[in-house]
Amino acid sequence: MSHVLNDPYQVLGIERDASAEDVKRAYRQLAMRYHPDRNPGDAVAEERFKVVSEAYATLRDPESRQRYDAYGQVGRPGAGATPDFSHVDWRVVFSEADVPMDWSRRGGMPTTGNLMFDALFKGVATMFRQAGLLPGEDREVPVRIGVETARSGGSLRVRLPGPIRCATCGGAGADAGGACPVCGGGGVLRRGMDVDVSVPARVREGTRLRLAGMGGPGQPPGDAHVVIALDLPAGVTLRGRDLLTEVFVTPFEAARGLVANVLGVRVAVAAGASDGQEVRVAGGGVGGDLIVTLRTDTWRGLGRAAADLVRSVARRRSE
Ligand SMILES: [Zn+2]
Repeated sequence: MSHVLNDPYQVLGIERDASAEDVKRAYRQLAMRYHPDRNPGDAVAEERFKVVSEAYATLRDPESRQRYDAYGQVGRPGAGATPDFSHVDWRVVFSEADVPMDWSRRGGMPTTGNLMFDALFKGVATMFRQAGLLPGEDREVPVRIGVETARSGGSLRVRLPGPIRCATCGGAGADAGGACPVCGGGGVLRRGMDVDVSVPARVREGTRLRLAGMGGPGQPPGDAHVVIALDLPAGVTLRGRDLLTEVFVTPFEAARGLVANVLGVRVAVAAGASDGQEVRVAGGGVGGDLIVTLRTDTWRGLGRAAADLVRSVARRRSE
């Protein structure tokens, strides 16, 4: 039964010696009759549309037609009991037979005008997805960055989840030298990949950095969106684009004035500072200012001063 059903000549209702033009004409006629647009919700029509499309895919290509004539084989050579048509470029198949198909819908199924394949023609949609013809999904990749990266920008290594199109071969699976050594020829990396993302200076919390084509594989592949979150140290808050924090100074420092290191920024405090005084450093925030509130506290002030000393010694060594 299934053998008869899968005889592409019978499916298309043509003779064995039909010309390529006859094959195409027969297919177009049947494809239009069983087309999703004309048969909404009709599971039988769905199946027929699939079967005639596979029959045509078998006979349109001279090599594949010859293989069927000689061995009765349909689909990809060496495939199992279920014919495999995952190698077929259905875009080409439909367009050359002039079967209208709207592929433009992004993030969903290809549509035929206003009808979604998803709900009514699931089998066909599966066929397209296997052939890599559906658009890939867009993905969000959350990352946390420190204050200094947010302020000055820089390169950030980000793990993109798989499956993802292989960047080495561009998803082709091969180049002039043979199978792609990175993906092994599949064109897809199941486990994802690391990429270096360039973070712009003064980046805002919640900024989305778009990595085109680095989302889910498909046609076209989806995008990855790296979503930035600021990793603020304890005691630091963000107000708009300003950073707010407290700094502890000893009464001696407050009286004499000091230079402290706060979040990687040099903060100069004039002599005679008082508890609760605010010092603003322009550009010390993340696109805004750093606002430091002084707190006079002998022991905590000594701790901060020691840390500043360690930092300045380390900096001098690295210079
Ligand atoms: Zn590759």
